[in-house]
Amino acid sequence: MQKKTFRRGIHPLHRAHEGKMPTRNESIRDYVSDTVTISMAMNIGTPAKPCVKKGDQVLVGQVIGEAQGFMSVPVHASVSGEVTAVEQIASLGTGPMMAVTIKNDFSDTWVELNPLGSVEHVDPAKIIPAIQAAGITGMGGASFPTHVKLTFGQGKTCDTIIVNGAECETHLTADYRLMLENSVRIVDGLRAVMRATNVKTGIIAIEDNKMEAVAAMQKAVHGREGVRVQVLRTKYPQGGEKQLIEAITGRQVPSGGLPIDVHTVVLNVGTCAAIADAVIDGKPLISRVTTVTGAVRKPSNLRLRIGTITEDIIGECGGYAETPGKIFFGGAMTGICIPNDNMPIMKSTNGIVVFNERDSKSKNESPCIHCGRCVAACPIGLNPYQIKVAADKSDFESAAKLHVMDCILCGSCAYMCPSRRWLTPSFKYAKDHLAAEAKAKQAAAKGGENK
Ligand code: SF4
Ligand code: SF4
Repeated sequence: MQKKTFRRGIHPLHRAHEGKMPTRNESIRDYVSDTVTISMAMNIGTPAKPCVKKGDQVLVGQVIGEAQGFMSVPVHASVSGEVTAVEQIASLGTGPMMAVTIKNDFSDTWVELNPLGSVEHVDPAKIIPAIQAAGITGMGGASFPTHVKLTFGQGKTCDTIIVNGAECETHLTADYRLMLENSVRIVDGLRAVMRATNVKTGIIAIEDNKMEAVAAMQKAVHGREGVRVQVLRTKYPQGGEKQLIEAITGRQVPSGGLPIDVHTVVLNVGTCAAIADAVIDGKPLISRVTTVTGAVRKPSNLRLRIGTITEDIIGECGGYAETPGKIFFGGAMTGICIPNDNMPIMKSTNGIVVFNERDSKSKNESPCIHCGRCVAACPIGLNPYQIKVAADKSDFESAAKLHVMDCILCGSCAYMCPSRRWLTPSFKYAKDHLAAEAKAKQAAAKGGENK
């Protein structure tokens, strides 16, 4: 089979190999904690609104947060028990977020479910509403509501659905284990989406450092209509949506555009498994597989209830092996550093990576030597050193003209930079500023219309 890839990118192969080794052969095991704290802000768009109060008894799968409009998803109880708090907690972004805390009664009593049965026989019109009701968002880290992604805007068409099994992040193996252990569920989820959207081609894309997963998925797709596996060359960031689309279809998502602009939708393997659970069993999204690794005694792949607190998870993994310096949600390349281990996991938390104090120390920046390595590495074709100059001067207009909004914060440029320039934090700063500016303009325009 011909192995495909995208232009530019980097090869952190040694780091990727070493990072994945501690959990690569760790089978998924379940862990359920005494208490969960479930955020209402787990999707891009409007957060859900709590619809339970302190003292209420809830069942697993019961709606505890109602969606607020189309660009929002409901939130469900991930354990059964008593609601002990409905309050604001610290978030990973700006400002606090609402969350519901439930004390687990360990009876694991489920709310009444509404299974639709086999994905090959269900009425296709019922599939997207089932995905929406199950509160499914992108589980590869993006948090985009899946029902929105599958509702193509007017005039938009899709001919290919790509399932992202690349998992190019250096320390994560959650998707790899899911492909080995739940391969049929992933194909079921893909087939459900293909039937719902009337798309005839489904491609499961996997890097060539996971040939066992390729074999498992090839077995699972056997006899399934329109579905095949595509092997990709191992390269970072192969799992980026735009890079996957370019590698597989040769199409390039335009600047500021979305995959649907090139007739494609990309879904993570975990998202597909969650879709299968929602359609076949009627189960909402209440758990996910997360890799826990780095400076912990027992690196693991755990199936965790949404809202499990990081400290409890670390305890399940034998505790810290060394004094922690930084803890990341997500991988080491693109993850978000969390403020402390009180943070609960979200629907998008595919990894918890603990760095010890030594590895957490930021290295001093040196002046740019204009070597161009960052430009050669950037998968989007940006000019990182010029954007950095603009961002550091808070010259957001110039940063926007240099297409900083197309930056996917993959860190490839920083990885290659011999001067250890802090490139990605500067790009995130510029992107956040420009996004806030655009939001304020939009709100002002809306206010004007309503006058
Ligand atoms: S972080 Fe942004 S600028 Fe740097 S390589 Fe990735 S996409 Fe390009
Ligand atoms: S890789 Fe670093 S030193 Fe080289 S041009 Fe880019 S920012 Fe400058």
